[in-house]
Amino acid sequence: MSRLDQHDAYLLEFDAHVVAARADGDHAWVRLDASAFYPTSGGQPHDVGSLAGVAVDDVRIEDDGAVWHRVAGAAAAWVAGHPVHGAIDGERRARHRQRHSAQHLLSQAFVRVDPAFATRSVALTGADLTVDLAGAPDDDAIAAAEWLANEAAYDAWPVVAFEVDEAELERFPLRRPPKVHGRIRLVAMGAAVDRDPAGAWELSACGGTHVRCTAEVAPIVVLKRERIRGDLTRVTFRAGWEAWAHHRATHAAASAAAATLSTAVADLPAKVAALADEATAARRALAEARGRLAADLADGLLGEPAEFGRADASDPEAPRPDGALVVAELEPGDADLLAPLADALAARGATAVLAVVRGGKAEVVAASGAGVDVRPALKAALAVLGGRGGGKPERAQGAGPDVDAVADALSAAHDALHGD
Ligand SMILES: [Zn+2]
Repeated sequence: MSRLDQHDAYLLEFDAHVVAARADGDHAWVRLDASAFYPTSGGQPHDVGSLAGVAVDDVRIEDDGAVWHRVAGAAAAWVAGHPVHGAIDGERRARHRQRHSAQHLLSQAFVRVDPAFATRSVALTGADLTVDLAGAPDDDAIAAAEWLANEAAYDAWPVVAFEVDEAELERFPLRRPPKVHGRIRLVAMGAAVDRDPAGAWELSACGGTHVRCTAEVAPIVVLKRERIRGDLTRVTFRAGWEAWAHHRATHAAASAAAATLSTAVADLPAKVAALADEATAARRALAEARGRLAADLADGLLGEPAEFGRADASDPEAPRPDGALVVAELEPGDADLLAPLADALAARGATAVLAVVRGGKAEVVAASGAGVDVRPALKAALAVLGGRGGGKPERAQGAGPDVDAVADALSAAHDALHGD
């Protein structure tokens, strides 16, 4: 069969004849005597499009080089010898040309920065492209490679693909040795590759669809580097339209944030850092204020326990542990005082079991400054609330979903403290 895609990566329509068809459930795989569809291989995803107006959603190549196109419907509809017109989704093909050619330029740029940074594998399946490199390029090496790759793009060099015999390969300084034998397809990128492909800036064995001119892939933008398994470095990047789309989205997000903060995009890092510092100081001040308020409340409460809360269950008749016992539900508006107040009461030698309803849950904090193990009280309360929690003997906390059972839960906690 004839691989039209190997000779012209911009060919989007072609005429061919059916050679064979195989059934595959409610789909069929169709083989033609010629095809411009690129089959998934070499890290580049397959094309989509149509054959005789029927959508092609997958294209695969077999070991014998035969390309099969997946279409919906019965295999019997594809009669050997019948003519078909093929059409390829040009938008998807264009993205794949940009992605794959940009990957060649960036991989070459990395080995020019340091021969150790050889590309071990690539992923071209989404807009965020990756190359997995040997070695550990640092930020400076990444920036140098990114610069070189963009320079190669903006120099607008021609790109050519051609086949050579395996025996001729020694004339061509390939970035990486080919994985196939016999006739080998090479892709060359450089100032004069149309006249002297062996002198290419970038030369690799590759069956992919590539741009005609390196300028088509610009810009090449590195987004991330990370160490991955196998002692490799994964570099994530974008090229061409997809790099531009990323810039648009990022700029829109940054501009919106800058407008909210009444500053310029360039001043965002300093502004955000200052805001983070302010927020930290404000949180600290708020915690201190809550602590003071909790201390005042604790002082008042230990004088007049019956006046606080709406479910006070203190029982002056019952035998007490050392120090006062405060078992109470806080108003929802005082929810932020739950822990500070329990701690303030414990700091004054009291034993406290406090509850509040917040966010659809009943929260309980138990604390003691009298040497009482509060965990049985917490456990009893949480059993009623249907919740979970834990802690140390002198302080424990938890929460449960049964917000209507707070009064019962506190009674259970109260009983547990009295050993009932
Ligand atoms: Zn390639």
